[in-house]
Amino acid sequence: MEERTHQGVAVYIEQRDGEVAHVSLELLGAGRALADKLNVKLSGILIGHNVKHLTDTLFEHGADIVYLVDDPVFEQYRSETYQHGVVDVANKHKPEILLFGATIIGRDLASIVATSLETGLTADCTKLDVNEETKLLEASRPAMGGNIMATILCKKHRPQMASVRPRVMKALKPEAGRKGEVIVEKVPLDENKLQTKVVELVKEISDELSIADADIIVAGGKGMQDEIGFKLIYELADVLGAAVGATRDAVESGWINHKHQVGQTGTTVAPKLYFAIGISGAVQHVVGMENSEVVVAINIDPNAKIFESCTYGIVGDAFEVVPKLIAEFKKILVEDGEVANG
Ligand code: FAD
Repeated sequence: MEERTHQGVAVYIEQRDGEVAHVSLELLGAGRALADKLNVKLSGILIGHNVKHLTDTLFEHGADIVYLVDDPVFEQYRSETYQHGVVDVANKHKPEILLFGATIIGRDLASIVATSLETGLTADCTKLDVNEETKLLEASRPAMGGNIMATILCKKHRPQMASVRPRVMKALKPEAGRKGEVIVEKVPLDENKLQTKVVELVKEISDELSIADADIIVAGGKGMQDEIGFKLIYELADVLGAAVGATRDAVESGWINHKHQVGQTGTTVAPKLYFAIGISGAVQHVVGMENSEVVVAINIDPNAKIFESCTYGIVGDAFEVVPKLIAEFKKILVEDGEVANG
């Protein structure tokens, strides 16, 4: 085991167009707790072009050190170049723990970095801790179809790597003026010798509110019976200015696109208000929404499991309850809005 040769906790800092992804700040929060337990430093690995201005934010959110790899070759994300960036920093500074956000970029990068560093990666963790005696990272995640939580150790290789989905961990409250050390690293890469080029960046334009960013989500399940029934979910969401979520069964029935799926194989969400309508409350769904501030469940079955995970439960037929909610919310929100607007 190489334990003594590696020290510190590092977080890969994802940025796009010079903006830090929130999951990286959440990981700095989680990483800070691990570093304090191990009595080691917390670092961020920041790669990009013209991104030095982001270092203050990282210190304010808990980093002690930022390894800055800044070069035009890193203008856009490419697996090929960013892999070199992270691997070079990891080989030189040897963190014992290396964390990634489980975003599209993070999932891509973490797996290549783990392969290059010949170490293990525990993906989609929901809890990270350090064992007081062994000092090993304990990376926990749902396993066996979500029926058990498995705690995974990486005993023989370093760094111990883990990825965590957005909104699972909490970012620290920023400490204004907190300072740290910036260590500039050069990763020599010749653009002409690279095998991948970014020709054009096409951004998806959608007028639908994404469940990942929404404050209110109205989610529907198999209890909505069919595509027509599911339209009630859209109606309630529309009145509340909410995003629409769904269970896997609703998605698999073809009523809604997978990008609306909440849960273990969908998106993890943490809105202020979550409506779970016609949803039984299977563990694979609940792991994706249990961090919501307030959960309102509507189910015809008084024994439905979802009632164990909600703040307010309404036992009733969605086809009776939801139209009444829509009418009431319309009265409060739309009519009041009209009065307020004069
Ligand atoms: P059901 O379990 O069929 O529940 C329907 C509910 O509607 C029932 O509780 C019923 O009482 C209620 N109902 C019926 N009629 C009415 C009515 N008129 N009014 C009010 N209530 C009514 N699921 C996810 O959601 N997300 C995931 O990411 C996910 N990943 C998975 C990964 C794996 C590996 C596996 C094995 C499963 C996964 N699942 C996931 C599926 C999950 O186990 C459940 O099957 C699914 O969440 C159930 O969806 P549901 O609640 O819509 O349907």
